[in-house]
Amino acid sequence: MAGGEPGPAAASGRRRVAVVGGGITGLSAALHLVDLAREHGLDVEVAVLEAGGDFGGKVRTDRPGPFVIEQGPDSLLARKPWGVDLCRRLGVADLLTGPGPHGGRSYLVSRGRLEPMPAGLILGMPASPLALLTTRLVPLSGRLRAALEPWVPRGGGEDESLHQFLCRRLGRSTAEAVAEPLLEAVHAGDARRLSARATYPQLVTLEERYGSLARGLQAQRAQRAQDSEAARHAQFITLRTGLGTLPERAVEALRRDSRVRLLAGCPVTALEPLSGGRWRVVTAGGQQEQFHAVVVTVPAYAAARLVAPWAPAAVEALEAIPYASTAAVALAFPRDAVAHPLDGSGFLVPRAEVRVITGCTWLSSKWPHTSPPDTVLMRCFVGRAGSEEMLSLPDDALIDAVDRDLRRYMDIAGAPVLARVYRWPRAMPQYEVGHHGRVRAAEEALAGFPTLALAGAGLHGIGVPDCIRQGGEAARRVLGLSAGSAGPGGRPATPGPAGAPATARPTGPRSR
Ligand SMILES: Cc1cc2nc3c(=O)[nH]c(=O)nc-3n(C[C@H](O)[C@H](O)[C@H](O)COP(=O)(O)OP(=O)(O)OC[C@H]3O[C@@H](n4cnc5c(N)ncnc54)[C@H](O)[C@@H]3O)c2cc1C
Repeated sequence: MAGGEPGPAAASGRRRVAVVGGGITGLSAALHLVDLAREHGLDVEVAVLEAGGDFGGKVRTDRPGPFVIEQGPDSLLARKPWGVDLCRRLGVADLLTGPGPHGGRSYLVSRGRLEPMPAGLILGMPASPLALLTTRLVPLSGRLRAALEPWVPRGGGEDESLHQFLCRRLGRSTAEAVAEPLLEAVHAGDARRLSARATYPQLVTLEERYGSLARGLQAQRAQRAQDSEAARHAQFITLRTGLGTLPERAVEALRRDSRVRLLAGCPVTALEPLSGGRWRVVTAGGQQEQFHAVVVTVPAYAAARLVAPWAPAAVEALEAIPYASTAAVALAFPRDAVAHPLDGSGFLVPRAEVRVITGCTWLSSKWPHTSPPDTVLMRCFVGRAGSEEMLSLPDDALIDAVDRDLRRYMDIAGAPVLARVYRWPRAMPQYEVGHHGRVRAAEEALAGFPTLALAGAGLHGIGVPDCIRQGGEAARRVLGLSAGSAGPGGRPATPGPAGAPATARPTGPRSR
């Protein structure tokens, strides 16, 4: 880092902004800062300080030989526009692609066997009382109970766990055997601890608005069918070259901009508030530099350490956001070694049945561009909130354990032709019951520091599009711009009041 004071440029109106953390939230913040500066005629300099050796955080793609293997996220939720906006901004929208022909179908483990997920489920929810009628996943009494969902009265509006919410609406056996495995997998979480409102606000909203998930899902489906544009698009999309292309292109774009410095291997160890809303940013080497504003995009526990000396009330709230560890193990086999038709995107293992793997994506079926046609590429997940013991195995032992467990469910001959482990320690923020209150408490404790903005997966949405949106909102906040001004892609990063899920809405007083 260049040392010292903001210098004479400050007097001339130049604003120097530090972005702490170079994951997708931080890169989005940096891109928004330079775009907003250009749009509003502001003189802004940006430094992105990243602890690791490169940028992108959890968004990274491994490309061994002919394979495209996502180490972290493999898809963008298409209905959240901020991912596509960023693709357009970076000139990679032509690389967007939807799942293969079997991408919409998946399997669930039941009594050690793969059973097809019933058709007509949306987010694991039966969209019609008849959707579960013939499945073997749920006993008859459970299927009958789930069929009564449209007549179950609304809840009282309290922040309940996902498990409570699903049991109340669908009955326990359907909740545990069908809905929870899917909804837990997204967060590597435990439905008994996750907040329904913070993790799946759209489901809570359906209940509030329609009095029933099935009725709400049917209404949405009808609406979608009328909107021919929406109906044409896949629910999930990705980039043919891998989602790692996003940070790679973002870094290229930022490197071309003389107002931006990208500093990898630069962990921030302290943030000190100075007079006039300025900040002293200290890095591990003891170097210091002053900035007019700071955007903090590191995980909540790391943010807690940075604000501890001057905002102790925020520390408790940020440290109370737990993070789960997980690992993805990629295995490839010759196609003729795998007996299964692979007519789906993969399978999930309900909590009660997990031995080693919690789920497996058949990448070569879900995203056919990820491997040659004569090869099957799979990605198995290990570890989630409350069960992380297997992650202590060294790579070779973990690969063996995953490979053996996989063969309990699938008939596979011979050894894998490729095996890779991608570890994600303390990576998945857990939006437990009370999450919104914790985030609000942290933001209120920081309200007296308007030149500092917090953003990232630990706060207002863990998905990549939500992280991109949060980066944009934080950029706008520290530049003192209103929420309505456009960012990369031309869309305001702050969602309109009707279109956004509850998690997407800023909860702190600064952002109201
Ligand atoms: C296995 C896995 C699968 C996923 N699948 C999907 C998916 O399919 N779709 C989807 O939308 N989302 C998915 N996600 C979630 C999504 O990838 C993440 O929530 C998102 O990428 C987080 O971005 P971020 O920038 O907020 O945080 P991070 O990516 O964690 O970035 C934070 C950065 O801050 C840096 N840092 C930490 N401390 C400091 C410090 N003191 N100083 C400087 N830098 C620091 C870190 O090194 C890191 O690079 C998945 C996540 C994982 C782990």
